[in-house]
Amino acid sequence: MLKGIAVSDGIGIGKAIIIKEKIPEYNDRTVSDISAEILRLDNALSEFCRSTELLARKIEQSVGANEADIIRGHISIVKDPYFIGECEKLIKEGKCAEAAFENVSDMFITIFSSAAEELIRQRAADMRDVKNSVLKNLMGIQSTQLSSLPGNSVIITEELTPSMISELDKGKISAFVTETGGVTSHSAIIAKMMEIPAVMSVQNAVSILNDGETIIVDGIKGTVIRSPDDAELKKYIDLQIGYNKEKQSLELFRGKPCTCASGERFDVFCNIGKAEEANAAVENDGEGIGLMRSEFLFMNRNTAPTEQQQFEEYKKAAIIAGGRPVIIRTLDVGGDKSIPYLGIPQEDNPFLGLRAVRYCLKNIPVFKQQIRAILRASCFGNIKIMFPMISEISELRKCKAVVEECKDELKEEGISFDRDIKTGIMVETPAAAICADILAKECDFFSIGTNDLTGYVMSCDRGNESVSELYSCFQPAVLRMIEQTIKCAKNEHIPVGMCGEAAADPLMIPILMSFGLDEFSVSPSSVLKVKKYISSFSIDKANNIRENVISMSTVNEIIQYIKNSYQ
Ligand code: PEP
Ligand code: MG
Repeated sequence: MLKGIAVSDGIGIGKAIIIKEKIPEYNDRTVSDISAEILRLDNALSEFCRSTELLARKIEQSVGANEADIIRGHISIVKDPYFIGECEKLIKEGKCAEAAFENVSDMFITIFSSAAEELIRQRAADMRDVKNSVLKNLMGIQSTQLSSLPGNSVIITEELTPSMISELDKGKISAFVTETGGVTSHSAIIAKMMEIPAVMSVQNAVSILNDGETIIVDGIKGTVIRSPDDAELKKYIDLQIGYNKEKQSLELFRGKPCTCASGERFDVFCNIGKAEEANAAVENDGEGIGLMRSEFLFMNRNTAPTEQQQFEEYKKAAIIAGGRPVIIRTLDVGGDKSIPYLGIPQEDNPFLGLRAVRYCLKNIPVFKQQIRAILRASCFGNIKIMFPMISEISELRKCKAVVEECKDELKEEGISFDRDIKTGIMVETPAAAICADILAKECDFFSIGTNDLTGYVMSCDRGNESVSELYSCFQPAVLRMIEQTIKCAKNEHIPVGMCGEAAADPLMIPILMSFGLDEFSVSPSSVLKVKKYISSFSIDKANNIRENVISMSTVNEIIQYIKNSYQ
């Protein structure tokens, strides 16, 4: 059995198709006709842009606009004036177009690969994809014909490039296995959208596995089984049937209000990164947007989006949500989300540094631009403003003062906005959870950010594998913080939601129900699952679980106890 990272769930069974994308050696020569060589590169790049745009359109129709934008991102790489300038510089020094393009691409791959942020490191994979495609164009090589695969193919490849995926016929693929890539890589996102099981970062998969052998891909556990015996095959076919049945059973919950077994009502909202994703929220039955991570709009660009660009994006989310609440979180930069042009200095402890509102309150023009854009968009739907990383009441007051200042400006300019717009906070620092009684008096709502709260309460980095055993939302310390926060919100009669990953954890759900959480905000693909989990507990049963759990002292004890309650 080979192990990797589970990035797209489900069980895939089929025959291995090994894809070795090998670029033939080119003839590295010195050129004398500089303009002819530049023209050759121009033509190869134009061809690349043309075929990539075609692929993007295909993806737009079959998968979605967001995924198409990922592919279009490749076009912007080769249109970057600095990139082109560097290639031309090398050609002018006598290098052939292939060598010039490869050298400059490799330089970018090295820079991206050594970045501290995972998101930027993954851009190295995109750059490699672009490099291979353009080199093939320069050498007149046709790409691998992936569209004519036999049915039930399990694709085994070093790297699943977005352009490769877009050539594939979805109906013929049972699963993907790759040697590189992780949960947030572009190919993982697309595999998930295509609903094809995928396991990535499986070491040496291409050389270990053989073309044509039977492969089982467990996209839930992150394992790959080669040439299974009959018993193993039967076990996985049963698991596959069970998984597919479970998926179908979720359809029962579509279009119905979310109620638990004893009839109490809960809201299930969605977390999104871009306005476009509000479509997935609506399609998957989300009753609102509980978290729009606005920083996504600021990423992967060289300057901040203008007020008008932000306005368009927030307006789009509000319109797609069609009157459902849309909670826009103000810029949560810092921590692991670095946005170079915002000029945050290098910090020893970025998670404890100039992050989120701490940055915004020191950079008022950036903050005001965003608040103005949100206010302007508020006429087009039910928008609310949420401040991240609040740790004391004076921060909240300062943020609200900025909102008031922007309202006054807009009034003077005769621009309309929702004068009654609600403002709330993410409770994601221990300080906010402990002082939730003070904060609740001046907030219209709370949303508990367990991703950060868990890290801060347990004093362990949320992305550091070596302390991952401490990082659990089932830690008694974290559960107490959540309980305390919900209690304080209830005392002040304000709604309280949760937008951290814990809101979709089936083992956490009964505890949250019993604490009195009003709204669960989860990824669009988890909405129906969360509705199903909620429906399986009555409030009495949830209360009983909570009473027992809250007196337990270890994560293992708690998890084991709730697992047993599901049986
Ligand atoms: C959280 O911290 O729980 C949260 C939802 O915010 P993010 O993951 O964007 O930090
Ligand atoms: Mg957070």
